[in-house]
Order: sequence, then structure tokens, then C-alpha cells
Amino acid sequence: TFFQPTSHSSSKWVHLNHIHMEPSTIAAAAATTTTRRRKRKIVVIMGPTGAGKSRLSIDLATRFFENSEIINSDKMQVYRGLDITTNKITMQEQLGVPHHLLGAFDPTKSVITPSEFRKLASENISDIKSRRGLPLVVGGSNSCIYSLVTKRFDPKSDVFNGPDAHPVSSELRYECCFIWVDVCLPVLNQYLSKRVDEMLDSGMVEELAEFYRSGEHMRVKRSGLGQAIGVPEFEGYFRTFRRMEKSSDCEEDVIGEGEVYDEAVRRIKDNTCQLAKKQVSKILRLRDAGWELKRIDATEAFRAVVTAESGGGRVTEIWEKQVVEPSMKIVKRFLEE
Ligand code: ATP
Repeated sequence: TFFQPTSHSSSKWVHLNHIHMEPSTIAAAAATTTTRRRKRKIVVIMGPTGAGKSRLSIDLATRFFENSEIINSDKMQVYRGLDITTNKITMQEQLGVPHHLLGAFDPTKSVITPSEFRKLASENISDIKSRRGLPLVVGGSNSCIYSLVTKRFDPKSDVFNGPDAHPVSSELRYECCFIWVDVCLPVLNQYLSKRVDEMLDSGMVEELAEFYRSGEHMRVKRSGLGQAIGVPEFEGYFRTFRRMEKSSDCEEDVIGEGEVYDEAVRRIKDNTCQLAKKQVSKILRLRDAGWELKRIDATEAFRAVVTAESGGGRVTEIWEKQVVEPSMKIVKRFLEE
């Protein structure tokens, strides 16, 4: 608003806060401001685990904003390995959209802290901007998002946990368009349970068996990938039944194995639902502190997924109407501002 012409704008000189400027100077300054703002614009897609953030980011990047590049903000997916267990988007699903900080770090060598994430992701943003691209920050780890976008980040202050949580800062160093993909929790929980079954069908146990067999679980930093949901839950199972050492012609069930396996799966489902709930409460904390989050309700699309009689076509139709279209409009408006 500083450069808004005053009532004297028809005269050659315009008075702004007692500074005299020529209209051409004002126009140039306004253009500079717009360029500066554009340079700082990023889109952040947040939401609980399973809510469809990756799918939405690919939909936006492939159909509307083709210069987009994605920066992963899931703190488990930054590490190499356990791709099924941490639910990383596959190369096929990426549809050629460049991804950064996805499976990029050796989990035996580093722990990516929020401060580290802030440094790495901001370097990625600068690189993407230098290619005239649009950075889409996508992932469920709100501590990473918070560390990245706040103007002054203090690694010692925890704004999300405990009764003495520090106040949330609303001074941001980027112009952010926050899209919060939300799904009502009872529906999301049903979906998450189904998703865990699908992850198991696609080889999650074999992936974890290899993780334990190779001794990687001893080498990864405990505070990093060693905490991914699935690793601690299956530890007892592998320790007791040593499934990873079984040969393929020795498939018969050992007494009690089924129960331990089922218990591990039950805990994974439970912990995944807890994670989603915690992530939503962190998002609400940011919103309550004044962060301008645009909430997109994807519940109906997920209800269609968990309802057996719905066909895939109907899911896609609802997803398009209720998630992709409104998100696209929000981003478009944000980029034009
Ligand atoms: P933050 O709180 O730092 O924003 P977050 O919400 O992603 O991160 P936490 O609340 O710290 O996660 O995580 C709860 C549990 O879920 C932890 O054990 C964490 O390691 C695990 N977790 C988080 N993301 C994933 C993932 N993609 N795959 C598997 N486990 C995960």
C-alpha cells in the first residue's frame, strides 16, 4: 500500500508519506516490489499423513503450473531406503516432476534436524527460483515446514510440543500459499488402515526384513529413519521369528508367529492414526496463531475410496471437483497477486 497513488495522482508529482516521486518512479518501484514478492513466493502443501498431498502436488505440477518443482517436507522420506514403509512417492507416480530432498540422505550418516532442513530446503528454493520455477513444499512434517518458512528460527524453541510450547511466530521469510489438505479423522483413519494393508501387500514386510537382515537397523541413527512407523513395531517379530533368515521353501507358520505379526500390524495402524491426529493438531496450532492456511476438504473423495461400492472413476471425479479445482484457483490467485 505504500506505493498506492494518493488523491494527487493526476498531478505530475505524487505525495507519499511526504516523499515526492514521479509517477514513473512509482511504477518502477511497484514493479520492483512485485518482482521481489514473486521471487519469494512458494506453495506449501500440508496435511496429515495419507491425505493426498503428493497426488495433489503432482496434479498441480503436471496440469497447471508446469514450472513447478517439489521439495519434500516429510522428515522420514528425506532418507534413502524404506520406500514402502515411509510411503514415498514412486518414480512412476512423480510423472517427471523434479523432486528434491526425497531419499537424498544416507540414514546411517546423518540426522536431518529442522535446522538442517531449513538450510537445505532454502537452498533448493533459491535454485528453483533461479530456474524461474515454482517451489512446491510438500509433506506432513510441520516442524520442517515451520523451520523453513519462519523469518527467525530458533532450534531450541519447540512450538508444537508440551504444555510450555513456545509461541508460534507468524513472521515469515517467504510469501507462502499454504494449502492444507484435510480429511475428517474417522474417514482418514479408515483409509489409513486400508493403506497399511496395501503397503503390506506391496512388500513392506520384505523391505523391513531386508532392513533387519542387512543390519541397517543397527547402523541408522535412532533419531532418524530408525523411528519410521513400521521399524519399531516389527522389531520383536523379526527378533523372535527371524523371518529374514528363512529360505523361500520354508514358509510354514511357526507357532505364535501369526499373532505377533498381527499385533505388529495392529500397532502400525494405530500409530499411523495417532500420527495423523498429531499432525492435524500442529496444523491447527499454526492456524490459530494466524497463519493463513487455505483448507481444502478432501473427505468426500476419501469416503468414496473407503466405500467398497465406489468405482475409481467416481473417486477421481470427486477429487477433481473438490480438491484439484479449488487448489488450482487458490494457487493461481496467489501467483497473480
Ligand atoms: P513433526 O512433528 O516434526 O512435524 P511429523 O508430524 O511428521 O513431524 P512426528 O509427530 O514427529 O512426525 O512423528 C510421530 C511418529 O511418526 C514418529 O515415530 C515418526 O518417526 C513417524 N513418522 C513420521 N513420518 C513418517 C513416515 N513418512 N513414515 C513412517 N513414519 C513416520
